[in-house]
Formats: sequence, C-alpha cells, structure tokens
Amino acid sequence: MENPQPGYAMHPHLLGVFVIEALKKIQWLTVPVLSLTLFGGLVGLALYIPRHGVHPVEPIFCAAFVFVVAMVVSGGYHRYFAHKAFQCHPAVKLFYLIVGCAALQQSALVWASDHRCHHRYVDTDKDPYSAKKGLWWSHVGWLLAEDPASRQNLLRNAPDLARDRWVMWQHKYWVWISLPLAIGLPLLIGFLIGRPMGMFLWGVLLRIAITHHTTFTINSLAHRFGTQPYSDACTARDVWWLAPILCGENYHNYHHCFQSDYRNGIRWYHWDPTKWALWTLAKLRLVKGLRRTPQHLILKARLEMDLKRVPAPAPVYDRLLALRQTLLDAAELYAKARKNYYEFKRSTADRSRESLLAAKENLRARREAFEARLSEWRETVRLAFRGLASSGGIS
Ligand SMILES: [Zn+2]
Ligand SMILES: [Zn+2]
Repeated sequence: MENPQPGYAMHPHLLGVFVIEALKKIQWLTVPVLSLTLFGGLVGLALYIPRHGVHPVEPIFCAAFVFVVAMVVSGGYHRYFAHKAFQCHPAVKLFYLIVGCAALQQSALVWASDHRCHHRYVDTDKDPYSAKKGLWWSHVGWLLAEDPASRQNLLRNAPDLARDRWVMWQHKYWVWISLPLAIGLPLLIGFLIGRPMGMFLWGVLLRIAITHHTTFTINSLAHRFGTQPYSDACTARDVWWLAPILCGENYHNYHHCFQSDYRNGIRWYHWDPTKWALWTLAKLRLVKGLRRTPQHLILKARLEMDLKRVPAPAPVYDRLLALRQTLLDAAELYAKARKNYYEFKRSTADRSRESLLAAKENLRARREAFEARLSEWRETVRLAFRGLASSGGIS
C-alpha cells in the first residue's frame, strides 16, 4: 500500500531540517534573560533571605522601580508611542524613551510596532501575541520563538516613529541605555547600603522579572479572563483584579474598543494611575491634546453589548430597541448642555448671572432626563433576564 505522504513524516534529513529551523527561531538572547531574571531572582532570594534577612530599602526600591517603569511602559511605550493618545513635551518624551529602556522590552519603535500589529490583526496569525494561540504563547511564548522575518516590516506600521530621530536614537542604543538604569542604579544603592547582593537580587533580577511578567499579563490574562462590557469582537477583557499591578492597563476590553483614548479605566474609581499622571502632566502643560472617546460612543457600545446578551425571544427586546434610541438622544442632549454650560462659564464675553443660571438649570434638567432613561434601560434589561430566568431560559 502506498504511503500518502511518501518519506515525509519520518525522513531523517527533513526531521533534521525541521529541528534546525525550530532552533533558529528560538531567541537565544531572550531565553536566558527571561529565565535568569525570573528563576535567578526567586531562587536567589529564597537562598539569600534566610541567611541575610531583608533590608527595608530592597523591597521598597524594587516596588518603586517596578511602579515607575510600569507607568512609563503604560503612558510612554503604550499610550504615547503606540497609540498617540496625546502629545507631549520633549522632556517627557525623553523621559519615556530613557526610562522605558529599563523595562527591557525592546525599543519603543519595536514595542509600538508589535503592539499596532496586535490591535490591527488581533486574534489572527498576524497578531504577534495572539491569544488564540494559547495562554503560554500570548504570555511569553511569542518572545521565545519569535520569527525574525516578522520584523522585516517593522517600519511599515510605524512611519511616524521611524521619522522621529529621538525614537531612532533609542532604537539604536536602548540596550546600552538600559544597563546603567536596570543594573547600575540598583547595584550602586546596594553598595551604599552595604548589601550589593541583596540589591542585585531584589532590585535587578526580581524587579526585571516582575516588570516583564506584569506587562506580559496584559497580553495573556487580560485576553482570557474578565468581562467584555464594550465589545466581544475580540478576546480582550476588562479584569478588575489585575488593577493593582497593571496601572490601568487591565481595562483591556475598553482599550481594544477605544484604543486612542488616553484613559483605559474611564470611571473615577477605576484604578488607572497612568490616566491620573497624564491628566496631572496636562495641568502642568507637559502634555496636551489628551484624546477622550465621546461619551455617547462609549454608551452606544455598552448598549449594543446589553442587546447582544438579551436573547432575541425576550419579551421586552423590542422595548429595549426603542429605549436605546431614546437613551442615546438623551445622552446627546446632555453632552451638548454640558459643553454649552462650560463654554459659557469660561467665556470672557459679557454674560448676565441669569443667563448663566439658565444654562446651569438646562444642564441639570438634561442630566436628570438622561439618568432617568438610563435607569429605565437598566431596569428593562434586568426584567428581560428575570423573565427568561423564570421561564427557564437563564439560570
Ligand atoms: Zn490586547
Ligand atoms: Zn494598545
């Protein structure tokens, strides 16, 4: 009987070629750096702490450095270089470029280019860290077995960055800039407090490992667990419990839906220190043009998701369709009244106290009307689900 794939599966020569090609794809610099920082840090500290204890400076420095670098990756590499969600003063840009090197996550150019591919081709083979290839791949596997050919088109989706001589300077020298920051600074402090080995373990190895794996978590866990309040078009999710370590990047469903917004957590109580830092920098005139998604678009996305979740046979589905338009109209009127009021308040033209009060009253009325429609919407959605639950549709 003829072999359907003659000589292919087990041919020693082809097997050898396959192994060589697989080995070529392994990133021989990335593998030891990622392994040494994570396992070296953990094992080293497990051996070091019982004998030498912990100096308070070591964990404090480690946590502070993790936080600063996370803010720079989030605000600089991500929201500024990859998404251009705002414009910034040259001093801030330089800060982002220099401190960003300490993340040891490639140059801003490569990072932003990969990330733009991620958004454009999310969940497909062209997505560098596609969540569809599994948790391991999206977390770290893509870095270990990255195809260098994929980098050939690097500048194609980042022409704006390729034209920026500061970005290209950092792209050329980022490894050299990272050494004094990521290794030299912690070691210097280690010598000053008389514990260079302690600071090497805490401030260099563990700090780099935490910085790496928190960023990787956005690509892995935030594409696997959590909720999809704005869109289910891709795997991205909002994961509230990752907030403490991700500086706002955990609101990933919102971000994939409205990627040029400078905020990821849009509610006042959403833990998004990056957005607060950018807002503060804007007040100090160090950044400008913070981009915000109009409220009615956010509302529209949420209503669409509500409608998708209420199954078609729900008795109140038609009512929801009618309510959606009423609610969107009320939201638009509220937004206009708000804009008018604040423009009027800031205007230098002569305005009477009565006209200002009238604008304020109009704003209050529009807000109340919007909130009433919103409550009605929420109650109707609740009723829809309750109705289905009592009829056995949803348990
Ligand atoms: Zn994503
Ligand atoms: Zn993004």
